[in-house]
Amino acid sequence: MVSLCLDDSIQWVKGVGPLRLKLVARLGVLTVREFLYLPPRRYLDRSDIKPISDVNVGEEVTVEGDVISVSSRRSRKNKLLTDVVLYDRTGMITGRWFNQEWVKKRFKKGDHIFISGTVDYFQGFQIVNPDYEFLTKEESELIHTGRIIPIYPLTKGLGQRFMRRTINYLLKELLDKIDDPLPFEVRKRHDLVPIKLALSNLHFPLSKDLLRKSKKRLAFDELFYLQLFLALRRRKLKSEAGFSFNIQSGLENKFISSLPFKLTPSQEKVLSEIKRDMNSSYPMNRLLQGDVGSGKTVVAIATMLIAASNGFHSVFMAPTEILAYQHFFVISEFLSSLSVPYWLLVGGMNPEEREKVLIEIQEKRGIIVGTHALLEEDVNIPDLGFVIIDEQHRFGVTQRAEIQKKGNEPDTLVMTATPIPRTLALSVYGELDVSTIDEMPPGRITPVSRWVKNTEKRKYVYEWIREKNKKEGVKAYIVLPLIEESETLDLRSIEEEADNLKEKYFRDLKVGILHGKMKREDKEIIMKGFRGSDFDILITTTVIEVGVDVPEANIMVVENADRFGLATLHQLRGRIGRGGERSYFIMIASSQDITDKAKNRLKAIKKNSSGFKLSEVDLYLRGPGEFFGTRQHGFPDFRFFDPLKDRRMIGRVRNAVKIILDRGLEDRFRENLKKIRKDSEFIDVG
Ligand code: ADP
Ligand code: MG
Repeated sequence: MVSLCLDDSIQWVKGVGPLRLKLVARLGVLTVREFLYLPPRRYLDRSDIKPISDVNVGEEVTVEGDVISVSSRRSRKNKLLTDVVLYDRTGMITGRWFNQEWVKKRFKKGDHIFISGTVDYFQGFQIVNPDYEFLTKEESELIHTGRIIPIYPLTKGLGQRFMRRTINYLLKELLDKIDDPLPFEVRKRHDLVPIKLALSNLHFPLSKDLLRKSKKRLAFDELFYLQLFLALRRRKLKSEAGFSFNIQSGLENKFISSLPFKLTPSQEKVLSEIKRDMNSSYPMNRLLQGDVGSGKTVVAIATMLIAASNGFHSVFMAPTEILAYQHFFVISEFLSSLSVPYWLLVGGMNPEEREKVLIEIQEKRGIIVGTHALLEEDVNIPDLGFVIIDEQHRFGVTQRAEIQKKGNEPDTLVMTATPIPRTLALSVYGELDVSTIDEMPPGRITPVSRWVKNTEKRKYVYEWIREKNKKEGVKAYIVLPLIEESETLDLRSIEEEADNLKEKYFRDLKVGILHGKMKREDKEIIMKGFRGSDFDILITTTVIEVGVDVPEANIMVVENADRFGLATLHQLRGRIGRGGERSYFIMIASSQDITDKAKNRLKAIKKNSSGFKLSEVDLYLRGPGEFFGTRQHGFPDFRFFDPLKDRRMIGRVRNAVKIILDRGLEDRFRENLKKIRKDSEFIDVG
C-alpha cells in the first residue's frame, strides 16, 4: 500500500468511505492535514468525573458508566419520558429526557457513556435532559493514554467514535512525516513545544499542561503563517512594476485651493502618504482609517483627481446606495468648477440611464461613484487606474478583488471609520500600509451624549426638540431600530411610529421619513428635502448610518438604543455636530429591561468620543468570537489564535517572521503556506 501523505484527500484513509467523506467535508475537512488540525470542540477530563455515589442534589456533575436499562413511558399528562439508567460500580443514576423520541434509539444496554447536568432527586438520583457523550471500552483503551478525552464538532451521521478512531490512526501513520520548520532557536525563545507534540496533544492530551502548551504552539503557528504570508506578499508587490502616476496634478491643486477650509495636518500627512504610493511603481494597497467626520472624503477626492489628471478612471465604491448617492452629491458640489466628469452607477437605476453611463465612461475618463452594481459583468471600465473602497468591512474580499480586476493592477485605497483596535491591527494587517487621520477638522464640537433611562421622559426630549427647531432652526434625526420592515421585532412599523410621533409632538413641523425599503428616487428626494428646507425632522432607520452630511442637523435621538451595537451608535453620532454648533446625541433605552452588555455599551458611548477607543471597548465587551466572527473587520477566522487572550503573542510572531526573513529561511515554509490556508482566507485589504 502506498503510504498516506498529509495533503492526500481523506477519502484514502482507512474507514472513510464516500459517505463519510461528504460528512467530514461539512466540518471543513478535506485533507489529512485538515483533519489533524481540526480542534476538538471541548474536552472531557476524566479526573473531573465523579463516582455516582458521591453526587449531591443541586450539583453540576459529569458521571461515567454503563447503560443498564433504557425505557420509555407516557406520563399522566401524556408526556413521553425516556429514562437511561447508568451504573458505575459505585451507584446508579438516571438520565431522563422529556418528549425526545430519538433517545430510546440512541442508547442501548451496555453502552459506555458520560452524562452531565444538574443532579436532581426523584425516586433516586437523576439528571434531566443531560448532555451526553459516548465512549466505547475499546476506544477507551485505544486512547488509554488520555484522561482527557476530545469531543469533536460533529455533523449528522458522524460519531465521536469515528472521529477519535480516525485521528488516532492518522496520528500513528503520519506524525513522523510532519517536520517542524520552525528553527529550534525560535521555539526555545518563545517556549514552544515541537509541532508533533502539539498535534498529538491537541487530540489526546497527556495532561492539562501539555494541552495548554499545544494550543499555544498551534496559535503561534496560525498567526505566524498569516504574518509570513503578508510579509512575503508585500515584498513581492513592492518588486512588481505597476503604474506610476505623475503626482504634480493641476486638478488636485486647484481642488484643494478651492476648498472653503484648510486641510488639517493629519489630512495633509495621509494625502502625502497616498501620493507617495501613487507615484511609486508598485501597486498601492493602503488602508485609510479615520473617525467619522475626520475628512476622509476630501482626501479621497483629491487622490482621484490625480488619477484623472493622468488620464485614468477612478472608481469610488460604497456599500449602500444612499452612501454612494451622498458621495456623488458631495463630489458634484466640489467639482462644479473643475472639468472632470463624474458618474453614478447603482442598482436601482433605470436601464436607459445606466446604458448612458456605460457608454460615456468608454469615451471620457473621470470619477465613477457606485455600489456593488459596479461589479456587474457588463460594466467595463477602460483605464481603471485607481480604486477607492469606502467602509471596507462591508465588502467581502472577493468583491474587492472583483473591482480591482476591472483594471490592470490599479492603486487601491480602502477607507474605514470602524478601525480595528490598535493593539490588534498589526496581527492581521502586518506590514500593510495604514494611514490614519487622527484629528478632527477645527471647530468640531463633540456632541453631548445622553442616555435617557426612563422612557417616560421621552416626551420632554421631543418637546425640547420642537422648541429648538422653532427658536433656532435646529434639525433633528430620530432613529428607530428597524433594520427592515421584514424584521420581526415586536416594534411597530416605522411608518406607524412616525405618524405617532408627528401626531403627538411635531404637528406643526415638517417631518420626513426614510427607510431601507424605499425606492432610490424617493430616498433621494427625502435626503435632498432634509438637506434643504423641506423637512425639520427626519425619522429614519439606520440607512443614515454612514456618510450622510447635513450641517444643520444637530440633534439625534435614538430610540431603543440598546438594540444597536457600539459601532453603529458611533457611526450614527458621527452624523451630527458637523456644522460647528453644539450638538446632542440622545439615546433612549429603559435601564430596567436591558442587558448588562447593552448598559455597558450605552455608558461607553456616553463616555468616549473616539472611534478608536470605542473599538477597543467593543472588542472587550463582545469578546473576540463575536467581534471577529461577524467578519465586520474582514478578519480571517482563527481556529487557535485568540486575538484577545493571545495578543501578547503578536509581537513574538512578528519577531519570528523577521528572523526567518532575515536569514532567508522562508523557503522552508512555502509548502505549508500553500497548503495550510487558501489565499482567499487571508485578510486582504487590497
Ligand atoms: P468622513 O468621510 O471622514 O466621515 P467627511 O470627509 O465626510 O468625513 O468630512 C466631514 C465634513 O467635514 C464634511 O462636511 C467636510 O466638507 C468637512 N471637512 C473635511 N475636511 C475639513 C477641514 N480640513 N476643515 C474643515 N472642514 C472639513
Ligand atoms: Mg465618509
